[in-house]
Amino acid sequence: MKIDVLTLFPEMFDVFNHSLMGKAQEKQLFTLNRHNIRDYSLDKHKRCDDYPFGGGAGMVMMPQPIHDCIMAVDPSHTALRIFMSPKGETLSQKKVAQLANCDHLLILCGHYEGVDQRVLDSDIDCEISIGDYVLSGGEIPAMVLIDSVARYIPEVLGNREATVEESFSSNLLEYPQYTRPQEFNGMKVPDVLVSGNHQLVDEWRRQQSLELTKKLRPDLLKKGDL
Ligand code: SAH
Repeated sequence: MKIDVLTLFPEMFDVFNHSLMGKAQEKQLFTLNRHNIRDYSLDKHKRCDDYPFGGGAGMVMMPQPIHDCIMAVDPSHTALRIFMSPKGETLSQKKVAQLANCDHLLILCGHYEGVDQRVLDSDIDCEISIGDYVLSGGEIPAMVLIDSVARYIPEVLGNREATVEESFSSNLLEYPQYTRPQEFNGMKVPDVLVSGNHQLVDEWRRQQSLELTKKLRPDLLKKGDL
């Protein structure tokens, strides 16, 4: 998978140099290219924002640098072009799984008050939100999207099964997890997990998942698909 991210702050994406995502890129399981929108500004001061027509607070990102950047990065429109936006479809695990099937994603990060509507209308395929709250820029939302999608690429987690069983994958929250030591501050790991009986372990985990979901997120159970 190839991911092109268009931003005014490319250095923010250094977070992907670390941990699982850093290793995945070293192994070339996916490529993350950052493009600085400012490099495409034709303004002599490399400005990328201006006052909103009609007045109001804040600045708006100008269409020209964004349009030229998109045309340079994805000239024949092979990418699914996404704009991170609080107005977009809310990201869900189902959406993440869909996006993980794409070979090429282009992600545009807005800043300030947002982006001139004309470049969104002409160049963008869809808008994605990470939740009903407003952040100061699209970079952190883009990181959330990239991380959640990249986990779905085979081998990124090292264990393909990991994404099959975890929270939300079947509208259930994940069961509680335990590791060593077997007893910690007087609290023991549930006996069934050290019983060696895989069928009992599976049943216990399923039961725990159902109970936790019923308690914490009953809305998920209503979606069926159990
Ligand atoms: N004035 C806009 C918000 C601008 S916030 C409005 O009221 O809709 C600046 C940028 O941050 C946005 O253009 C978008 O790219 C990003 N952003 C902010 N909140 C977001 C969210 N919940 N999901 C995705 N992107 C978001």
